[in-house]
Amino acid sequence: MTTSADWWRGAVIYQIYPRSFQDSNADGVGDLHGIVDRLPYVADLGVDAIWMSPFFTSPMRDFGYDVADYRAVDPLFGTSADFDAVIETAHRLGLKVVIDQVLSHTSDQHPWFVESRADRQNPKADWYVWADARADGTPPNNWLSRFGGVAWHWEPRRGQYNLHNFLPAQPDLNFHNPAVRQAQLDNVRFWLDRGVDGFRLDVVNYYFHDAELRSNPPLGPAPHPYDRQRHRYDKSRPENLAFLEHLRALVDRYPGTALLGEIDDDADVSLTRMAEYTASGRRLHMGYTFDFLRDGFSPGFVRERLETLAAAVGGGWPCWSFSNHDVARHVGRWSKDPADRPRLAKLCAALLLSLRGSVCLYQGEELGLADAALAYEDLVDPYGIEFWPEPVGRDGCRTPMPWRHDQANGGFSTAKPWLPLPPDHLALAVDRQTDDPASVLSSYKKLIAFRKRHRAMISGDQRFIHSDDRLLVFARETPNETIFCTFNFSAERATWTARPEWVVTPLDGHGFAADISGSDVHLPPFGVVFSTENQMVDY
Ligand code: BGC
Repeated sequence: MTTSADWWRGAVIYQIYPRSFQDSNADGVGDLHGIVDRLPYVADLGVDAIWMSPFFTSPMRDFGYDVADYRAVDPLFGTSADFDAVIETAHRLGLKVVIDQVLSHTSDQHPWFVESRADRQNPKADWYVWADARADGTPPNNWLSRFGGVAWHWEPRRGQYNLHNFLPAQPDLNFHNPAVRQAQLDNVRFWLDRGVDGFRLDVVNYYFHDAELRSNPPLGPAPHPYDRQRHRYDKSRPENLAFLEHLRALVDRYPGTALLGEIDDDADVSLTRMAEYTASGRRLHMGYTFDFLRDGFSPGFVRERLETLAAAVGGGWPCWSFSNHDVARHVGRWSKDPADRPRLAKLCAALLLSLRGSVCLYQGEELGLADAALAYEDLVDPYGIEFWPEPVGRDGCRTPMPWRHDQANGGFSTAKPWLPLPPDHLALAVDRQTDDPASVLSSYKKLIAFRKRHRAMISGDQRFIHSDDRLLVFARETPNETIFCTFNFSAERATWTARPEWVVTPLDGHGFAADISGSDVHLPPFGVVFSTENQMVDY
């Protein structure tokens, strides 16, 4: 049984991007009060927890992932009392609260950096990663920023470069300095004392850099220069493991809290990293993977990722997601024909909610939203503005939630929203889907409830049975229960010959309507079937 202390194992976590969830004070930006108002909707989905993207004081150059005060709520999002209301309301509704912690870097307006950059002698002089220029004036090594260009920014006050793995406005903290590590642990403890149930750790493998500042070796051709290096020296450093153990020891003093780390590494070492970070039980509880945040989506790919991961991580625990605030929404990314999107959305929901691991859903995916197509003039993401039109940046997945099809700005705000709400999202607004049993939203609710009712779906093993161009079949099983899960990824009918003893339960009410004759299960396009060996699945 899941005890309250391991609620996270197999949990369904709903990601809220506060700027775009619900505006309560008519400034066009979502806020904590708006989240409180909408928590009953989230609880009604049946999820276990919310993860809130950053709401801390920030100049918002990277929309909150550039923190200027780790302990304060940015006035744009509300007050400290509003945060207490989120915790109190969520807990009353049976939801855990996971908050983002961006420990690797700060805003360049954080007082630590303002002090550190002033000269080379101040008390915070060694809190960031400073280095002299080479003799020819160029940066000390070949490290690159995730957001493009070199990872070094020249600071005339000190006559030195400082490291930034993301925007220049996000200087990288020097985790080799014990005072920095202690300060960040103290900030984490502050939120534990405020009653949170866990943390999503932003870029958790970026905390340390190589103290000798060695250049990364080349990796080979790739479209993005960042991917042409093996990131051996600028992240995933061995020293990080000891820090994670300190962090884990801290959260273990608050029973029932959990760490979910975002692990972003070179594709061929991502599983090694997942094992290293989650398998021992002494570091992270869950590792957030990037496997399905990219283009690949086929039965073979899903099988390969899950099987390889299971073999690599042993007792470790992944957290899967198909969409988040950094990537194009999966329904748009994976559909070949826009007409397929509602059915593809349901197939993806059934698949994601059947995987072994925990699951993060991103606000709006339960409505089957695809990315908004925005004009260049509407863009605000600096990464998108710099590289438009390829890539277009992250604004398309961050547009406001459509709550009501018949209200201004979809009921998100009475003011002009910070990003436009596209008209095609209004047709998929929450109010249009709530009472429709065949809607994508209803499917999510039913599938989440199904997962929760079956221990095999939450924490059972996963055994792959079949995969081909169209079909994926696997079992989720505990000693007491086996559930066979069959998915048709294609836009054509596909037939799976089940074993005669399987009792097949089609997913009624989802437009899947499998047609069963004997052992042959004819799955409609994007159809899904759950079955057991000796009884109908309680679905
Ligand atoms: C976050 C991004 C952010 C970056 C830098 C990522 O993992 O999800 O939104 O820009 O970290 O903090």
